[in-house]
Amino acid sequence: MYKPRLFAPGPVEVPPQVLEAMARPTIHHRTPEFKELFLRVREKLAELCCVPGEDVLILAGSGTSAFEAGFLASVPKGSKILGINAGKFGERWVKLARTFGYGVTDLQFDWGKVAEPAMVRQALEQNPDISVVMTTHSETSTGALHDVQALARAIREVRPEALILVDCVTSLSATEVRPKEWGLDGVFSGSQKGLMLPPGLGFAWLSERAWAQQDLSPSFYLDLRKERKSQVKGETAYTPAVNLIYGLEASLDMLLNEGIEQVWQRRAKFNEAIMAAGKAVGCKPYAKRPSPAVAALYAPEGIAAPDIVKGFTKRGMRIAGGQDHAKAVMFRPSALGYADAFDVISIAAALEASLRDLGQAIAQGSAVVAAMQVLEG
Ligand SMILES: *Cc1c(COP(=O)(O)O)cnc(C)c1O
Repeated sequence: MYKPRLFAPGPVEVPPQVLEAMARPTIHHRTPEFKELFLRVREKLAELCCVPGEDVLILAGSGTSAFEAGFLASVPKGSKILGINAGKFGERWVKLARTFGYGVTDLQFDWGKVAEPAMVRQALEQNPDISVVMTTHSETSTGALHDVQALARAIREVRPEALILVDCVTSLSATEVRPKEWGLDGVFSGSQKGLMLPPGLGFAWLSERAWAQQDLSPSFYLDLRKERKSQVKGETAYTPAVNLIYGLEASLDMLLNEGIEQVWQRRAKFNEAIMAAGKAVGCKPYAKRPSPAVAALYAPEGIAAPDIVKGFTKRGMRIAGGQDHAKAVMFRPSALGYADAFDVISIAAALEASLRDLGQAIAQGSAVVAAMQVLEG
């Protein structure tokens, strides 16, 4: 018998402290008790997001709801948009903008690559009417980490007033994100990734420039302006996901007690160890600039990646496979959730065992040793 565990880049393993906090009786949200809790959680969340004292709005919904709410609150009708698209999530934001009738230039990069600042600059030069740029930071579908800071710098050179909206769903708390220092205008995330909660919360931060773009949000439920007015007072526009907010405080306490920079370093090291384990058993990295949130690896020549995913499943570990054209060739383990070094070693062990099941001649311990060398080095 195996203990079923989540080693996918979301949803992730939830710490027992968080589960325990969420098991508390639900309180009514129109009470002083909730208000006190919510104001405390807001403060801690802003700290985690490196925007202390600012409004990071907490929505009942997944990461996509946060992006959609932030997009609708800040992007004026009729704006022309540049969508940086190097995987499923970049593609999602292009679709979102088109759904609402915006004209989008879909700037595509091959999966596994990152957006080149020079290409982004060129696209802006060729399209003088573009006033909004959307990108992902950690493109979870390919395991690539875009250099958002460099992209923002390039965008500002050509279009100083452009809005830069960034999907930080798997980068938040996995790697450095500095919304203000980097000059970003929208940062969005969700609960079931680096925040180690079950799915169900979205987080949205907007810059003052973004808030100033228009006076209304053309959405009833995902109206970020209405939320902001309520949330600064410790209330929410509609019924909040009370028990998830209990859990959020527990996870924020864990992450902030460890120290956000220490969390970034730890997660980078864990992911590097998984990548090293992969390399030791013939699995090349899929992404040119790997994200610390997920280890996207090629299956060895002649092996179908879904069979590796099944090997993990057999051992009680849920990892992610590849999507679309990468399905047959790529798989994605991740230690983004509640994980320690020995969980990473388990991933390495399951990888080499799964490959041996599939007839690969791999010496026992080779992936494990490679992972341990990174973890202990
Ligand atoms: C998980 C994820 C999302 C959000 O997806 P939801 O299903 O709405 O939670 C968005 N972007 C990236 C990069 C993600 O990994």
